[in-house]
Amino acid sequence: MSCGQSSADPAPLDLAEARVLAFEAGAAAVGFVAVGDVDADAQKQYDSWLEAGMQAGMGYMERNREVRNSPGLMLEGAQTMIITAFNYHTAERPCLGISRYALGSDYHNALRRQLRPMMHRLNEQGAESRLLIDSAPLRERYWAEKAGLGFIGRNSQLIIPGIGSYCFLATILTTAPLPAGYKPPVVEDGCGDCRRCRDACPGKAITSTRSIDARRCISYLTIEAPRAEGSDFQWPADVKQGSRLFGCDTCQDVCPYNSEASTKVIDRLMARPEVLGLTADELAAMTPEQFDGRFAGSPLRRAGLTHLQALLILKNRIASSRR
Ligand code: SF4
Ligand code: SF4
Repeated sequence: MSCGQSSADPAPLDLAEARVLAFEAGAAAVGFVAVGDVDADAQKQYDSWLEAGMQAGMGYMERNREVRNSPGLMLEGAQTMIITAFNYHTAERPCLGISRYALGSDYHNALRRQLRPMMHRLNEQGAESRLLIDSAPLRERYWAEKAGLGFIGRNSQLIIPGIGSYCFLATILTTAPLPAGYKPPVVEDGCGDCRRCRDACPGKAITSTRSIDARRCISYLTIEAPRAEGSDFQWPADVKQGSRLFGCDTCQDVCPYNSEASTKVIDRLMARPEVLGLTADELAAMTPEQFDGRFAGSPLRRAGLTHLQALLILKNRIASSRR
């Protein structure tokens, strides 16, 4: 902290140092944006999405609207959002249809550990900071786009040119201001005439306004729906599950920005052999003790054995009903 400054008056962010710290933490990209409100058009689009019921059973998406539109409410005196993106792209394919995000270790814990030194450094400089990793009502992709990390593609994912869209986002909300006059870069929409994700989506879940109708999205149907509040879960008859068991990557797999995407992944996010090698027979026969031992620290553990075995039964039932 420089002379004359108090903890209520933190020094402006040293962007060069913050970039170094983020890359040392393993981030593939980092951007900065001043705290503000979500713009009116984006708020309206979100409200229309909710009104159309596309959030399905994700009741939490309807709550905390004020905070979702004004993220500064989550930390008194917040001035800046530092958005980091961590790559989890891997060319390895699991035996079972498990989405890439779930092949490594649980990203909430992994990113929290990775970003700890950066948080300490910000605190040393007199700022108060809060780390948000998919745990708060924050429109992460919206702010990542505003911070100049990339653009939100037709598949509603954040696409970072040269890195792709297989990234976890972690946001540091901090009371440190941006240096005077700083403006984030603007990354132009790069979808052009491409429609590959919409054409390939097995649930036809991607809307013309670049949002996802969760009621038809296999990621939602296999990860969240069976546990959703007041769930009367039913698989939509015209959504083709194919080999997907837990999650779906199709709209990202077909995206040209991912075909040459970086596969440089930090150790904590690398695909784990015990997840890659899991077979249907093993999963069906597994006891809770075996499951907990084998998948400690994995997103599969978070999902739970009962949930995954239920998905296996559901998948077999759907497949046999279509024979
Ligand atoms: S995750 Fe799968 S089902 Fe969901 S929008 Fe993407 S391609 Fe469609
Ligand atoms: S597949 Fe094409 S349309 Fe879809 S997000 Fe990627 S570039 Fe955009």
